Amino acid sequence: MKRFLLCAGALLLMISCKETNVFQQEWKTPYGTAPFSRIAVADYVPAVKAGIEAQKAEIAAITACPDAPTFENTVAAYELSGDLLARVTGVFFNLSESDSTPEIQAVEEEITPLLSDAENEVFMDPAFFARVKAVYEAMDGLDREQQMVTKKLYERFVRNGIGLPEAEQARFKEINTRLAVLSQQFGKNLLAENNAFKEETGVTVSAYPSFMTECADRAQREKAFLAYSSRGNHGNANDNNAIALEILRLKAEKAGMLGYPDAASFILSDKMAGDPATVDAFLGGIMAAAMKKAKAEVADMQKVMDADPTVEKGAKIQPWDWFYYAEKVRKARYDLDEAETKPYFAADSVKKGLFYAANKLYGIRIEPAPEVEVYNPVVEAYRLSDADGSLLGIFYMDWFSRDTKRGGAWMNNFRDQYVAADGTEVRPVIVNVCNFPPPADGQPSLLTVDEVQTAFHEFGHALHGFLTKCRYRDVSGTSVARDFVEMFSQFNENWAFQKEILAVYAHHYQTGETIPDALVEKIRAALRFNQGFMTGELCAASILDMRWHELSAEELAAFTDAQSVRDFETKVCAEMGLIGEIIPRYRTSYFNHIFNSGYSAGYYSYLWSEVLDLDAFEKFEREGLWNPELARSFRETFLEKGGSEEPMTLFRSWRGGDPDPSALLRGRGLL
Ligand SMILES: [Zn+2]
Repeated sequence: MKRFLLCAGALLLMISCKETNVFQQEWKTPYGTAPFSRIAVADYVPAVKAGIEAQKAEIAAITACPDAPTFENTVAAYELSGDLLARVTGVFFNLSESDSTPEIQAVEEEITPLLSDAENEVFMDPAFFARVKAVYEAMDGLDREQQMVTKKLYERFVRNGIGLPEAEQARFKEINTRLAVLSQQFGKNLLAENNAFKEETGVTVSAYPSFMTECADRAQREKAFLAYSSRGNHGNANDNNAIALEILRLKAEKAGMLGYPDAASFILSDKMAGDPATVDAFLGGIMAAAMKKAKAEVADMQKVMDADPTVEKGAKIQPWDWFYYAEKVRKARYDLDEAETKPYFAADSVKKGLFYAANKLYGIRIEPAPEVEVYNPVVEAYRLSDADGSLLGIFYMDWFSRDTKRGGAWMNNFRDQYVAADGTEVRPVIVNVCNFPPPADGQPSLLTVDEVQTAFHEFGHALHGFLTKCRYRDVSGTSVARDFVEMFSQFNENWAFQKEILAVYAHHYQTGETIPDALVEKIRAALRFNQGFMTGELCAASILDMRWHELSAEELAAFTDAQSVRDFETKVCAEMGLIGEIIPRYRTSYFNHIFNSGYSAGYYSYLWSEVLDLDAFEKFEREGLWNPELARSFRETFLEKGGSEEPMTLFRSWRGGDPDPSALLRGRGLL
């Protein structure tokens, strides 16, 4: 039986689509996963265009529906529209990040404005909005998930300027299109700058921290630091300062049009934190604690440097000394050496640990799925199933760095979870992408402690995506407020170095010996080491992000060139009390998160979510790490719910109270 009563027009059009390329054909593959080997670069643009047209027709059918607007014939019908578009963009935007080529980049340039225009058209459509508004204003009788979906859709229109006079709407649309192009250019420039950094220093961006930790030559470290921290800042064709400024101006202008004083106020209005003042106060408190600790860390490092015969007498610790001397202090204090721990963290072993923890906590099983095609020979496919054997989803693991992949680590969906029009449940297809060192010379990839944490982090996002039990894709899985989503990835990190887990996975790749208890103790103690620096650079980037987005359009008009950007950074760093030995984790010209990745006025989310995750984890510590009841309630309250309820409501219902901000300072050893 059909669950949803749709108006018929949309379905007719879908059938009439010509099956010209692979995206428009039925995928008779295991679990309906993408047939990568059959996809040609030339398929993307026509498929995107056809997908846009198909969704347009589906929406036209919704607005042409003669019946009064209801949740089913309007909001649910919209949720079920755009299948073709979701399918092609699901593949394309994953590959453009992890397996990009100049041809893919050219496609991205072509389709980005098309998609942005199409989205504008949908969310500037007064007839469609009128129906959504009617449902929104009478949503009392809907269930909670339906209310959340309706609210999200309604707000999307409002935030896209549907309430503006016509002339302003045209400008608004122009801004959105321009922003899409600028963001993409920012990312493209950064990729070129990352490659130039590698050419100049022989070090990849992802290997920078380990290079800085190991390189004993101070002059070489200084050179690498200067090259790293000036990416996008060379006054050449890849300079990102002007692009960043234009993005900021346009965002401020948009916010102003919608009645907000600045971009941050607008962006935060639908987040868990709510407004800039709340975020500023939150970050200010962390910064103060972090700097107190960081000053002590500098003093410790200075002693080691003073005793270093290779360094000129009287030299002071500089930003390029931090990684190197912090490691020396760490070795001295905890007698811990990455070279000693890495052999226990071969990539394949870490994978076992990830899967074991997920099984033990949530009862899920993860098995190789060799029948599922992958997009690159190094990618692995897995099938996840629940304790009762039912399918949870398909998982691609793409862990190793390569030239075609951007830096960093992330989780993404190829396909979202939702309930289809015929009532069958579509399970998600999810990827974890990392930049771990590829296996080489017959030796497996050996991960650092930090990389092990990254593996657990990204898999935490994946679990959030896999365990979801929603009906509508707009709220399923990780489709939650940005300052809530990192709670689940960071929560999963807590399991990486638990003794029981380590006993399962941390075996020496040559001898098979389990990691010794003494080494485990050292790792656990060392995790709280250097947190003044780690927290400081993260918090500094978060504050820099906020300060940029707290400027009004008028204030931003005063910035004229790259120097004015650098001067602002200097001023902001001084005001936040950042010590000279630390720079923000990202400077403006290479702050991809905020200029090309949807984290504008949102980089604080990592710290914000960490309060939630550590507070939740403390409950597990109190009531039993492997307490099955607790894990079940965590799964049911959070992981299954996605965005079908307000985050704070979920948190309070599970925790029995508000999150405790000091959990973060305790967790990081800053109290
Ligand atoms: Zn994350």
